[in-house]
Amino acid sequence: MVDVVVAGTVALDSIKTPFGEVKEVLGGSAVYASVAASEFSKAGIVSVIGKDFPKKYLSFLNAMGINTLGIEAKKGDTFRWAGYYDYDMNQAHTLDTKLNVLATFDPKVPDEYRNAKYIFLANTDPEVQMKVLKQMKKPRLVMMDTMNFWIQNKKEELTKMIENVDVVVVNDAEARQYFDTPSIVQAGRSFLEMGPKAVIVKKGEHGALMFTDGSCFSAPAYPLEKLVDPTGAGDSFAGGFIGWLARTEDISPRNMRKAVIFGSAIASFNAEDFSLNKLKKITRDDIFNRYMMFQDIVSF
Ligand code: AMP
Repeated sequence: MVDVVVAGTVALDSIKTPFGEVKEVLGGSAVYASVAASEFSKAGIVSVIGKDFPKKYLSFLNAMGINTLGIEAKKGDTFRWAGYYDYDMNQAHTLDTKLNVLATFDPKVPDEYRNAKYIFLANTDPEVQMKVLKQMKKPRLVMMDTMNFWIQNKKEELTKMIENVDVVVVNDAEARQYFDTPSIVQAGRSFLEMGPKAVIVKKGEHGALMFTDGSCFSAPAYPLEKLVDPTGAGDSFAGGFIGWLARTEDISPRNMRKAVIFGSAIASFNAEDFSLNKLKKITRDDIFNRYMMFQDIVSF
């Protein structure tokens, strides 16, 4: 039984930051999001890998309690992303995106995922997102993410997706790019007019804004001293957010605010090391302690 279905990429990432460099490590939007969601609930991935994908990474996901039945292994190479960050780590610079097996991926959602109530369509081809959504039986909450690559290359398909989900989560630059506006508040409101009930705009080390009908919630980011690699912060934020909603079975605006803080807490841990190196070590107590620290830093 799976509580949260996460569709997205399973990747081999090569990343350089001012604090180090890694090559062909485990990454991908579905990986970060499902590991974060599994802190609170049972997650299952829908994605694709190539024959070159290291077995140890699949074993790692299983050891984290993640259902990997929905990861199809196809002939060809795994999706790869290469990028770097300068001191402004809010800005990821893409050096190379190789879609490989993702380019022809036709997702099949396993039967045992189809009754899941919480769906996160993480950053991937919007046509893949739509195909996954259509196979779900009766979801209670559908959330999606995207990035500049898809806004540039598949805006029409992306628009159709946005009109069909409950929650949109994007970063500030993507929100501006989609609506061609300098104002993220205006962009947030414009997303709401397209249909979603909530829109979360992530601002990296400056926190996140959540827009719902008539209200705006401003969450801080955890003031992290040792930032090593922000890759996957957005995905682990979203995974933590939806994992908390699934665990509590409460999608009220009040509980969504708590979910934003849990998501932010997990994302802050993720940025302390490369790949999944930090997330694999943290406990639920660590997350709750950081949640309390969030309360403390905004109390005045
Ligand atoms: P983020 O949470 O935004 O930092 O996402 C980082 C992850 O996104 C990396 O592990 C990449 O493998 C993955 N990624 C990069 N480009 C794309 C893309 N065009 N579509 C889907 N996933 C991507």
